[in-house]
Amino acid sequence: MKRYFTISTICIMVYLSLNTGLVRAARGEKWESLFDGKTLNGWIQRNGKAKYEVEDGVIVGATVLKTPNSFLCTEKMYSDFILELEFLVEGGMNSGVQIRSNSLENYKNYRVHGYQVEIDPSPRAYSGGIYDEARRGWLYDLKNSPHARSAFKQGQWNKFRVEAIGDSIKTWLNGVPASDLKDDMTSTGFIALQVHGSKEAGHKVRWRNIRIAQPKPKPAKSILKVLIVDGQNNHNWKGTTPVLKSILEDSGMFEVDVATSPAKGQPMSGFKPNFAEYDVAVGNYTGADWPEETQKAFMDYMSSGGGFVVYHAADNAFPKWKEYNEMIGLGGWGGRDEKSGPMIRYKGNSAVFDDTPGRGGTHGPQHEFQLITRQRNHPITAGLPEKWMHVKDELYSKLRGPAKNLTVLATAYADPEKGGTGEHEPILFTIGYGKGRIFQTALGHNVEQLSSVGFIFTLLRGAEWAATGNVTQTKVPEDFPTADKASRRGAGLLQ
Ligand code: ZN
Repeated sequence: MKRYFTISTICIMVYLSLNTGLVRAARGEKWESLFDGKTLNGWIQRNGKAKYEVEDGVIVGATVLKTPNSFLCTEKMYSDFILELEFLVEGGMNSGVQIRSNSLENYKNYRVHGYQVEIDPSPRAYSGGIYDEARRGWLYDLKNSPHARSAFKQGQWNKFRVEAIGDSIKTWLNGVPASDLKDDMTSTGFIALQVHGSKEAGHKVRWRNIRIAQPKPKPAKSILKVLIVDGQNNHNWKGTTPVLKSILEDSGMFEVDVATSPAKGQPMSGFKPNFAEYDVAVGNYTGADWPEETQKAFMDYMSSGGGFVVYHAADNAFPKWKEYNEMIGLGGWGGRDEKSGPMIRYKGNSAVFDDTPGRGGTHGPQHEFQLITRQRNHPITAGLPEKWMHVKDELYSKLRGPAKNLTVLATAYADPEKGGTGEHEPILFTIGYGKGRIFQTALGHNVEQLSSVGFIFTLLRGAEWAATGNVTQTKVPEDFPTADKASRRGAGLLQ
């Protein structure tokens, strides 16, 4: 009995270690601890006199009266990295984790400055947002990411993951995507644990399991492969697919194939696009259910890191397919209602969930409308004007869905005088699904709307972001619309 027990224990241990090894190899992350669990070796305190101590494998920072913000900084500098750590913060405090930060004589006499992954137990709940300490202030707050705000666990250990790679800084709070910042101001610096200056002494913030890994280098890719899926739609898919294809291919960045399903009423069993071959899929489909095997292939593709662009009426598709609705975040029509999930509404400048019962999906008569860029440092919307006009189109409203891992990038006000809801409706947004990335654009009812420069440029950036997680098309085109004037491109696209 004893021997049997020992052998099975060894088997389990071998299995576990093999399994861990596989996971590591697959993710390409070799972790190095930044904290030995016993001492503050490798760390140096700057800027303020808050108290940092080690207790039971945890770094404890405590506020001290009449001292400025304090930072416990790594002696080493880091450029591209993946950082993970856990933190526990008392309510009423403010704290954060500096990354790529510096302390220089020629910048405010050694003032610690740079990117701070915010720790914020206050009701606004911006933990995981990015604040530029002692420099530019907020770069990426969480006003437009209601699910990320609700991911914070008050009075408990929380976990951050930070990926800083090139000009991309992404954060996750307890597995929920929080920030997705594009910024190239500082490429290297130390990591530091902040204790904010305070009017009360002895408030504590704790950190543990602080570890860092080198990101796996991504193979340079010249052309991204796109698959447009169409074949059934209550919209003019035969007209819009070729235009979407030429917009994408004319940019020189994408190569596009089209998977066209059998027509409405025909057997679907043979419809099996090979999603795994592509960097990003574009949905121009709403119709009969795909075969189970195809649904599973699409879910596997997305959860393992695929990209998906939800174009206009593709958010009408598959009201009963749970995972599809998680991917699109918000959808409309097809019997969607409060059971499908909340709407997203704006209270002041913050997106909030709204469970008010009612049908999901509506729009008034077509008209020109103005987009408001809500998240101005996201790769897809970086550098866009705060307000820009879109051509005469449908203004999708009252979209409903699980809205998990969703960030609103742009809204449009649905004016009651134009048959609208009187709300700021989410029009461009992103969703995280497993390791996959989704960009949804509610714009582009028909061919004539696809000549809108606002549509074209956000589609190109959105497709690249969904495919790769970043955007290299940094320059905003000169013909991009202004606050009061829409613009069109390509006379050939006009009907
Ligand atoms: Zn439409």
